[in-house]
Amino acid sequence: MSRQLIILICVLVLSCKSESSQPGGTQSPPDQGESQKLEAQTRKADTIEDKQPAAADRFPAPEGWREITAADDGFFLDIRYATTNNFVDAIMYGCGKCFLRAEVADKLLQIRDELQKKNLGIKLFDCYRPAPVQERLWEKVPNASYVTPPWKGSQHNRGVALDLTITTADGEQLDMGTAFDYFGEEAHHTYTQHSAEIQANRTLLKTLMEHYGFASIRTEWWHYSIASMQDLAVSRWEWGCEE
Ligand SMILES: [Zn+2]
Repeated sequence: MSRQLIILICVLVLSCKSESSQPGGTQSPPDQGESQKLEAQTRKADTIEDKQPAAADRFPAPEGWREITAADDGFFLDIRYATTNNFVDAIMYGCGKCFLRAEVADKLLQIRDELQKKNLGIKLFDCYRPAPVQERLWEKVPNASYVTPPWKGSQHNRGVALDLTITTADGEQLDMGTAFDYFGEEAHHTYTQHSAEIQANRTLLKTLMEHYGFASIRTEWWHYSIASMQDLAVSRWEWGCEE
């Protein structure tokens, strides 16, 4: 056999081999040893997950949303609708959790960082509120002065609003002049009879929130939302509560 012929046969064999490994080419299945190895790896991964299931895996927030937690994010959570300590005197959430649209959560984390520099913290009273909860609230209090009608939808139902106050590093609330969800003119931003300390506390919160793009409403010192996201759809997703 001539040298040229041998080279030609080699080229043909190699090109066939490389063609068969292209996508769409004929693939031989992995041998049994290989597939057993893969199976073992999968089992190992399952076992690790079974031992340490991440909350986010068990009750995933919708894509583009984020959970804010006391443990991971350094907030104080006092989600009132998970208790009877609220203006409807009824438990509206199975458990107290804080979910927000991711962009809103990112802003909140930056505000937390700013306050931590001053040795202060944040307490959250309410974040995302599922639309079915808004409907149940409306059934209890069908009065638009206190509850946003479900057909309109609250900014809380869109995951772009939150109710919060400033605390000391230990979680003690700064004096804002009224309790959360106090319905009266003392809770209004326009009320001018509070002490200088209370005014300063409110101004600290409002200035920081506005700096990061949040807007306030006149009647509630604790409520802030991202005005540019107010046209997003309300969400009916509800979080799970099992440990
Ligand atoms: Zn609110």
